[in-house]
Amino acid sequence: MNRPSCLRAALALAFAASASSASALSIEFDYSYDTHGFFTDLATGAPMTERRALLDLAATFYGGFTDALTAIAPGAGDQWSVSFMHPSLGGPAVTLQNVDIAADTLRIYVGGSPTAPGVLGFAGTGHSLQASGDAAFVDAVTTRGQTGTQGTQAVDYATWGGYIWFNASNDWYFGADEAGLNGTRPDFLTTATHEIGHILGFGEADSWFANIDPDSGLFVGEHAMAAWGGAVPLDRYLDHWAEGTYSVRDGVPQETMMDPSTPFGERQLPTALDYAGFADIGWQVTAVPEPQAWAMLLAGLGVLFRHRRRLP
Ligand SMILES: [Zn+2]
Repeated sequence: MNRPSCLRAALALAFAASASSASALSIEFDYSYDTHGFFTDLATGAPMTERRALLDLAATFYGGFTDALTAIAPGAGDQWSVSFMHPSLGGPAVTLQNVDIAADTLRIYVGGSPTAPGVLGFAGTGHSLQASGDAAFVDAVTTRGQTGTQGTQAVDYATWGGYIWFNASNDWYFGADEAGLNGTRPDFLTTATHEIGHILGFGEADSWFANIDPDSGLFVGEHAMAAWGGAVPLDRYLDHWAEGTYSVRDGVPQETMMDPSTPFGERQLPTALDYAGFADIGWQVTAVPEPQAWAMLLAGLGVLFRHRRRLP
């Protein structure tokens, strides 16, 4: 069984957030740096709508996160910047300058390019975050207005957003319908949802590491402990559940989404343990997509993607 892995980007800065409100987390994808044609037809400039729709579908698995995130809105005298790896490996590091990011919103810059097979993708939140100006503005940039997001006692997490690179050398399955997935292909939806999870602090946040027992190396967040029935084993880098960790999704046993790899031909979306981990990072996980809602969403996309369906 081929088990391509998620290669974590080097730990970027982890700063963080959370609070409670009723608004759903919104994730915007930005294709400005999709320079190698992973989400864009380079010949025509047209967007590859199927692939982009799958990213939007991946984001819906975090739509039940209801933290209120302060907008990043630079005014006169305010400045912020952050740098990150080019998401298509298509040039020097990207540095964002004074970008506006709406309340309750994260922006994720995406791209892809070919490299050696085996790795599916990686994600991060960047480095060299700087902010200056009005104190409230600086707080918005560094914590999105949340408290307890930094340090060894962190209990919460927030970020401006992040970036994801996908390995274009893989024979990706770009379908919403799981029925079309077969045993020789990695599932793009699974990888996209997994990588977004890292940007949301899984294996990244100070509050993630604050929940790891230093003696045992086990994850001891209260929500995860309740879901697992005890301290949860992690992989050796302490940024995923241990390989092969199982939980349940919609009442059905499934390998966790946030273990390091997913076998070809399988779809692994967030399980109860995955969501519990996000709750321990500090996200207000008030609801997860219900099976019925998910089925309806799939039915709608099924029409859109029918011509792409492949029989197993
Ligand atoms: Zn990963």
